This record gives sequence, structure tokens and C-alpha cells, in this order.
Amino acid sequence: MATEMAQMQDESTTHVDVLIVGAGISGIGSAYHLQQQCPGKSYAILEMKDTFGGTWETHKYPGVRSDSDLYTFGYRFKPWVGTPIASGQAILDYMGEVIEENGIAPHIRYGHRITKAS
Ligand SMILES: Cc1cc2nc3c(=O)[nH]c(=O)nc-3n(C[C@H](O)[C@H](O)[C@H](O)COP(=O)(O)OP(=O)(O)OC[C@H]3O[C@@H](n4cnc5c(N)ncnc54)[C@H](O)[C@@H]3O)c2cc1C
Repeated sequence: MATEMAQMQDESTTHVDVLIVGAGISGIGSAYHLQQQCPGKSYAILEMKDTFGGTWETHKYPGVRSDSDLYTFGYRFKPWVGTPIASGQAILDYMGEVIEENGIAPHIRYGHRITKAS
């Protein structure tokens, strides 16, 4: 019985080299740089919500926008081409493009909240 339990655990356990917490702008950026700089490393992004965006997904009130310019806030590897101060939706769209253009989506596991790490 104990052996069977151990086998079941092994079969349902996935090992990755790097775990990224959250699919906000930091997590997506981390994934991009990890893919570029450590192409041999496996990774997963664990996101507790059911979609990406973090701050920009949480704050959906009318008129929500960045405080600073997106030329600075955006990623160096994907220069911002919109208006300097961007709406929350425009930032979400931008993050969606980064995910799609770089094949990051298969690495994101939604509905996974990290409760402890050791
Ligand atoms: C209205 C507004 C305007 C802003 N304007 C600017 C600006 O102009 N310039 C600027 O620099 N900053 C601005 N900020 C701050 C902004 O929040 C941050 O700059 C940035 O978006 C944070 O990104 P992040 O990925 O680090 O964190 P978050 O966006 O908070 O993303 C974290 C992600 O991790 C997930 N997560 C958290 N804990 C766990 C867990 N235990 N397990 C699994 N998943 C987890 C969350 O669900 C979330 O998706 C603004 C914030 C607001 C609200």
C-alpha cells in the first residue's frame, strides 16, 4: 500500500528547474529572460488566478491607467509603441502579446496558489 501511494505521488509530480510565482508583469518578464538566457532550463509559472495580468487584472475600475510612462514600465525587449500613459487594458493586451509571441502560455498553470516553499 505504501509503495502504491509513493508510485501515485511520483506519477503526479512534475519537476521543473525554476518555479516563477505569478503571471504579473514581473513573472512574464522573468519567463522571457529565463527562456533567452537559460534555454536548457525547464520552468513553470504558478498563478493563483485564472488569468495573467496581476495588478492590471485586479484593478479594473473605470479609467485605471499607469502612473508612469510605458516606455519605462514596458519591457526592454518589446518597446512600447502606444501612448506614454497607458490604460490597464492596453497593458493587459501588451502582456498577452508577450506571452503569445514567446510561447510562454504552455508554461503557465492557472488556479495554482503557492502556499509554502522550502
Ligand atoms: C492603478 C495602478 C497604477 C500603477 N502604475 C504603475 C506605473 O505607472 N509604474 C510602475 O512602475 N508601477 C505601477 N503600478 C504598480 C504595479 O502594481 C507594479 O508596477 C507591477 O504591475 C507589479 O507587477 P508584479 O508582476 O510584480 O506583481 P502583480 O501585478 O501583483 O502580480 C503578481 C501575480 O502573482 C500572483 N500571486 C501572488 N501570490 C501568489 C501565490 N502565493 N501563488 C500563486 N500566485 C500568486 C498574483 O495573482 C498576480 O497575478 C501601478 C499599480 C496600480 C494599481
